[in-house]
Amino acid sequence: RIRTRFAPSPTGFIHLGNIRSAIYPWAFARAQGGDFILRIEDTDQERSTQAAVDVILQGMAWLGLDFDEGPYYQMQRMARYQAVLAQMLERGLAYPCYMSVADLDALRERQQANKEKPRYDGTWRPEPGKALPPIPEGVQPVLRFKNPQGGVVAWDDKVKGRIEIANAELDDLVLARPAPASQAGEEGAAGEEGEAASGRIGVPTYNFCVVVDDIDMRITHVIRGDDHINNTPRQINILRALGHQPPVYAHLPTVLNEQGEKMSKRNGAKPVTQYRDEGYLPDALLNYLARLGWSHGDDEIFSRQQFLQWFDLEHLGRSAAQFDEAKLRWVNAQHLKALPEAELAPLVAEQLARRGLQADERLPTICALFKDRCDTTVALADWAALFYRDAEVPAAALAEHGVAAQRPALAALAQALAQCEWSRPGIAAALKAVLAAQGLKMPQLAVPVRVLLMGTPNTPSLDAVLALQPREKVLRALQRA
Ligand code: GLU
Repeated sequence: RIRTRFAPSPTGFIHLGNIRSAIYPWAFARAQGGDFILRIEDTDQERSTQAAVDVILQGMAWLGLDFDEGPYYQMQRMARYQAVLAQMLERGLAYPCYMSVADLDALRERQQANKEKPRYDGTWRPEPGKALPPIPEGVQPVLRFKNPQGGVVAWDDKVKGRIEIANAELDDLVLARPAPASQAGEEGAAGEEGEAASGRIGVPTYNFCVVVDDIDMRITHVIRGDDHINNTPRQINILRALGHQPPVYAHLPTVLNEQGEKMSKRNGAKPVTQYRDEGYLPDALLNYLARLGWSHGDDEIFSRQQFLQWFDLEHLGRSAAQFDEAKLRWVNAQHLKALPEAELAPLVAEQLARRGLQADERLPTICALFKDRCDTTVALADWAALFYRDAEVPAAALAEHGVAAQRPALAALAQALAQCEWSRPGIAAALKAVLAAQGLKMPQLAVPVRVLLMGTPNTPSLDAVLALQPREKVLRALQRA
């Protein structure tokens, strides 16, 4: 059974570049009838926040990225990592290294001076017949993985193709570090939790936790950002040492922002949930992000169902994709147009509620009338709001559109509208009669009415717009002329 995962770190609010990495593993699991797992990688306790976890969960729920298992939290799995570390020590897959930080620094400097790649030199790596140095006093060891020394690590990456790394390039990775002094000092007194996080074995490192999780969660396909590609050979070696076959890997190219930099919170990337607030439709954002790194022929606009039908790993893009807000707005406009007004109205009602306006049964018709000229539900709510409160009509607009010149015709219209049947055909007939009696063409009368009622000369068909307003409100607006 196919099992994929999304494993975000809740450090900073998840942005579009991050959440795109959730869409593909989700779609792959859904398309293949597999399981999609959410794992929160919160071991960086200094930088992880609950608020960031909340944005991940809200963003996924909003986009409809439902998961079958989780969220798992790495901080709740510490005891498990400790147990695997203990096993690895026992089986000789890992060893304690007592090289002090100062000695490590000196080693690195020597290597740099010789133009060598900095790497751990294996001083404490146990080998048959090799004598290890005496254990120094007062140095807390790190635990290192006994990386294979010969051969290559290779995998067929679903995006990048075949990748081969010589083991000679990889040094013995640190699997656990001593707990920081403050925590170590509290050891014993801290109870179970402190014990798990800072026990004798130490604090497990990021790469090690990922491997244990991918094994325990029986992940078959790891689909993630290509910033992790350097971790992959190390993770594969640990997986194999623990007796497991590596999963399939697909490393996704980076998402660049409009300036061509890697998207990040520091250079202005917005949290995912902000797109909801700005009036984007979840299916439109899903469509846009899916397309940003994957293609199905020339199709730019597709529904959630089509995406799930079409998705495959073979058509993931190989080069970095650049975010383009104008294109996102265009995609959103296409989805907005296609959405039946019964589904659109509740979303617009939400936007109206944020402005303190209460929608009613007119809203679906208003949506149908205006959706073609809007690219977000916020823009649609701007129009809809004009049906739930009086428009602000600046004196300059009245002057610009020559409202004063049409006073007699507007007075005649007010009279006709006061008496006609209040329906679209009734209003249309009244308009026609006034135009004929005054010898005017439609725009000469319609533009002033629109400006008076809606604050703008451009609206859909006037009879339709008027019929959606209460008669008294229309008459009040005409009075202002
Ligand atoms: N936690 C990592 C990140 O947010 C993802 C790790 C992984 O997918 O293996 O970049």
